[in-house]
Amino acid sequence: SQQRRTLIAGNWKMNGGLAANASLLESLQAAPELAASGSTCEVLVCVPVIYLSQCESLLSSSAIAIGAQDVSAHLSGAYTGEISSAMLADFACKYVIVGHSERRAYHHESNELVAQKALQALRSGIFPIVCVGETLEQREAGKTNEVVVTQLRAVMDVLDDGALARIVVAYEPVWAIGTGKTATPEMAQEVHAVLRSVLAERSDFAANRVRILYGGSMKPDNAQELLAMPDIDGGLIGGASLKSADFLSIIKAA
Ligand code: PEP
Repeated sequence: SQQRRTLIAGNWKMNGGLAANASLLESLQAAPELAASGSTCEVLVCVPVIYLSQCESLLSSSAIAIGAQDVSAHLSGAYTGEISSAMLADFACKYVIVGHSERRAYHHESNELVAQKALQALRSGIFPIVCVGETLEQREAGKTNEVVVTQLRAVMDVLDDGALARIVVAYEPVWAIGTGKTATPEMAQEVHAVLRSVLAERSDFAANRVRILYGGSMKPDNAQELLAMPDIDGGLIGGASLKSADFLSIIKAA
């Protein structure tokens, strides 16, 4: 939609390294699509936290924003291995993904935990990208809307109206992530519209303002038709964000 700036977010997941990151970011920055003033959409790379510092220095004069892939639900203390939102905020970390389906599945993250992570991020001035999405089994059982609405409501429950307007939502059907299967634009739009109507129950301001990204095998050849839907405000891109040519052509499609 015209009132929401399109966000094209890459999720590198557990990929990359000092050399690979430098070469990927160099190709992205060399592209005319990303010349500091040229891009109309917002472009983001969500990197492994250990590389925040590297990315911050490589992207210091760039139009590309930096994000993290997860954050602790706690403020500080005895949580070995975790990274707090305040630590992320020590770097040029503008966004953080919370509730990615891989974390929900492999780390048993509950809706309530994801909500606390979103809250902590906002308290440090970092915008959470809240991922929601159904499994294939849930879709086939006709439970898609119920699942994604429950996931979103858990986050809405802990945020006041001002905070709610600052989140980003990503609808990522689990069966479409890394599988090459994409929701059709119509299937995705239907869920995005449901999510927006749930936001609207709280406030029209939030509903109009919150960007809802689609994620799940978004590629150069399907990005344009997905991004053309009225309630799809951008993409969360895994595999295709690791190849500069693919990521750039998705940015172009936006
Ligand atoms: C993701 O991990 O958020 C994702 C959408 O991955 P992919 O694009 O590889 O399906």
